[in-house]
Amino acid sequence: CGVFGVVGVKDAANFVALGLHALQHRGQEAGGIVAHCPDQGFNSARRFGYVRDNFTKASLMETLPGPVAIGHVRYSTAGSKGAVIRDVQPFFGEFSMGGAAVAHNGNLTNANALRKELIERGSIFQSSSDSECIIHLMARSLQRNIPERMEDALRRVEGAFSIVAMTRTKLMGVRDPHGVRPLVLGKIGDGWALSSETCALDIIGAEYVREVEPGEMVVITEKGVESHFPFRPQPSKFCIFEHVYFSRPDSIIGGQSVYETRRQIGVELARETPVEADLVCPVPDSGTPAAIGFSQESGIPYAMGIIRNQYMGRTFIEPTEQIRNMGVRLKLNVNRALIKGKRVILVDDSVVRGTTSRKIKDMILDAGAKEVHFRIASPPTAWPCFYGVDTPERGKLLAATMSEDEMRDHLGVDSLKFISLDGLYRAAGQKKGRKKSCPQYCDACFSGEYPVTPADMIEKGFEM
Ligand code: 5GP
Ligand code: SF4
Ligand code: MG
Repeated sequence: CGVFGVVGVKDAANFVALGLHALQHRGQEAGGIVAHCPDQGFNSARRFGYVRDNFTKASLMETLPGPVAIGHVRYSTAGSKGAVIRDVQPFFGEFSMGGAAVAHNGNLTNANALRKELIERGSIFQSSSDSECIIHLMARSLQRNIPERMEDALRRVEGAFSIVAMTRTKLMGVRDPHGVRPLVLGKIGDGWALSSETCALDIIGAEYVREVEPGEMVVITEKGVESHFPFRPQPSKFCIFEHVYFSRPDSIIGGQSVYETRRQIGVELARETPVEADLVCPVPDSGTPAAIGFSQESGIPYAMGIIRNQYMGRTFIEPTEQIRNMGVRLKLNVNRALIKGKRVILVDDSVVRGTTSRKIKDMILDAGAKEVHFRIASPPTAWPCFYGVDTPERGKLLAATMSEDEMRDHLGVDSLKFISLDGLYRAAGQKKGRKKSCPQYCDACFSGEYPVTPADMIEKGFEM
């Protein structure tokens, strides 16, 4: 998901709509905005579909006046699959000291247990979302102001959270102690912005100030930014898959260009798993920077062997298998004239179920390619993510049940190679190690080393 918030500008909701539009790649199912203005109080709107189809209409935006607003773009990882408007964030709660709205990116790993406990004590849940627990925990807190209630609530939740929240006058941002999901701070005129990624600061002309630190809570008013560290410090475990796939290549994470990291992954891949071929082609768009790096390092010409229809979204963000299956053909087509008779290296970011790769291989062979070699910009995805990326259960992950050679045969390609985990760390400018001094990533979907025990899933029988 993507979160965005603004305080201290006229009609903040318009800026939030633009920010969410730039974060659309993080969630395409639905979007929501909450705004506050002194004469009307809180207003909100939640809609299915793209930001540009909803939050551009003057008739809707006029209902969201005021100098503070937050928003959310959603794709479902927790709660009910499929579309239910009740699950669309931000969530809102009215407390004795006023209202608050909360937008959450990530996934809480103890939400089931918390929900059960809260329901037993009288909380009335409106949605099936894990994130709603936060509002109910805030309602039960005895603290006298909303930021302190939020700290109280967040000390009870486990898992990954990057949160943007608001009261009548304040904008707040929090990252979980491991800092699994991104969150950045920007300055716009006399006001401030919080965003999942820097690309959304660019669109509103905000200046990038800094990242919200892992475990940090910022409370922003028109007067400035206050910083707190309400949690016990934990080692930093930023999601390495944000670098590989999730973030936009024009964003900056931890001072590093996402594009440059992806290009470097391609360089590492070419060094680790060279192969003779005529062309290097990306599976667009997610494989493109790595394919450029692969071509630069190997000297094999880069070519657009697969053309993407720009009017389709990201396939994996469509939640049902059926739509995903159709998605590949609706979205990608082979550039036949280029491929015929060639030995082709295809570079993609990841193999999850293997559906995409298999279909692409069929299309490429159909078009007359002589050989097909897959090179993948991440290690085999052998473990599900419980922190906000929608990987399927273990049994459906190709790499959970097959060796690399078995996967190659299953996909029916001439060769299939993945970047090593060490190679991926190198591309991201680090070294995988166990030393405290060495900042590490979350890489659980590749290594099975989960930085936060997924309590709810273990309760359901998941074995680590
Ligand atoms: P597959 O078809 O192997 O299930 O999905 C792989 C494709 O989906 C890749 O082209 C990749 O761009 C995209 N994808 C990337 N990350 C994920 C993820 O976490 N889950 C899923 N289901 N697909 C992903
Ligand atoms: Fe990211 Fe994978 Fe960790 Fe999930 S399990 S947070 S996708 S690195
Ligand atoms: Mg892809």
